[in-house]
Amino acid sequence: MPELLELLKDHTTLRLGGPARTWLRAETEQDLVDAVRTCDEAGEPVLVLAGGSNVVVADDGFAGTVVEVATTGVAADHEGDDPTCGGVLVTVAAGESWEAFVAHAVDHGWLGIEALSGIPGSVGATPIQNVGAYGQEVAQTLASVRVWDRTLRGVRTFAAADCGFGYRTSRFKADPGRHVVLTVTFQFRQGELAEPVTYAELAGLLEVEPGGRAPMTDVRRGVLELRTRKGMVLDPADHDTWSAGSFFTNPVVAAETVPEGAPAWPQPDGRVKTSAAWLIERAGFGKGYGAGAARLSTKHTLALTNRGDATTAELVALARELRDGVERRFGIRLVNEPVLVGVEL
Ligand SMILES: Cc1cc2nc3c(=O)[nH]c(=O)nc-3n(C[C@H](O)[C@H](O)[C@H](O)COP(=O)(O)OP(=O)(O)OC[C@H]3O[C@@H](n4cnc5c(N)ncnc54)[C@H](O)[C@@H]3O)c2cc1C
Repeated sequence: MPELLELLKDHTTLRLGGPARTWLRAETEQDLVDAVRTCDEAGEPVLVLAGGSNVVVADDGFAGTVVEVATTGVAADHEGDDPTCGGVLVTVAAGESWEAFVAHAVDHGWLGIEALSGIPGSVGATPIQNVGAYGQEVAQTLASVRVWDRTLRGVRTFAAADCGFGYRTSRFKADPGRHVVLTVTFQFRQGELAEPVTYAELAGLLEVEPGGRAPMTDVRRGVLELRTRKGMVLDPADHDTWSAGSFFTNPVVAAETVPEGAPAWPQPDGRVKTSAAWLIERAGFGKGYGAGAARLSTKHTLALTNRGDATTAELVALARELRDGVERRFGIRLVNEPVLVGVEL
């Protein structure tokens, strides 16, 4: 594999991050495993990077080797779109584009990821934080994840039940850097109607009752429309999309901690999930907040954006200001969703 001199800012959706000491692009699974294994044996720090849509990298860059996941391949266990058969198992290489895969799934009548349309990045990163949006998350259709385990130095397969999936988390996120995802296998039911639309805003747009069903193509179109309005579909010409998506997760807290009037979604463990966007706005940080080149999106309170020439230091300072402001006002400490590389909040 050729070694390239690369800046992280050219590979992240925030367009932030300094140089990598070494850059390796892995287009085959063998190259991916070899690259990581060779670095590990040499004691060289490794950053596995794919779409760069969920990372905040230091202005100093990364003093180690970035291994770019660029593997390809989508394989279904059978051909044909017969909705009467039991379903389809589809194995996807980690480097495949998630959005292209969702489009492919909708075209083939594979149910269950249509509401995850428009999310940037790779298929291999989706199990890391159990990617979710508009009432769906990958844990609902994911069957297994094949990984290179850097501690045991071998390939392992985790069934979905062993992945430790929760809200924006998994065993892979909990044990950072240990597992390199090689392939992800999904099990889809087949049909034309999407899985029930549980997200009220989406149901309203599609004119179905919450929990009702709509054609999969309509759900995909509806989600893309809502996401575009919120600056959540990448557009190089729109600085509102120069982000890492939602910067903070929705906090899950004891019921009595939720401020009056805030959204409250009961969780299975008795606690309540509330809205990070609501807390940020009520703490005095509205859409577009900020004076410098790092500001809140003008379309979405949860997206911290680079307006063109921001630095990581500026973006992180803004994130701290929001987190501390919310904590002062409500006593709830927000936690970042993107992975921080060489920086701390
Ligand atoms: C505009 C926008 C909208 C977004 N909307 C959503 C949303 O609705 N819901 C949601 O959940 N997320 C959302 N995100 C976040 C992001 O797109 C997802 O988390 C995505 O899965 C990240 O994929 P990536 O390939 O870009 O990962 P990267 O940013 O390259 O990496 C993210 C983390 O995963 C690790 N990683 C990546 N690939 C692998 C691999 N093969 N093996 C092991 N580790 C790996 C990296 O080391 C890093 O720690 C959004 C981001 C943006 C910019």
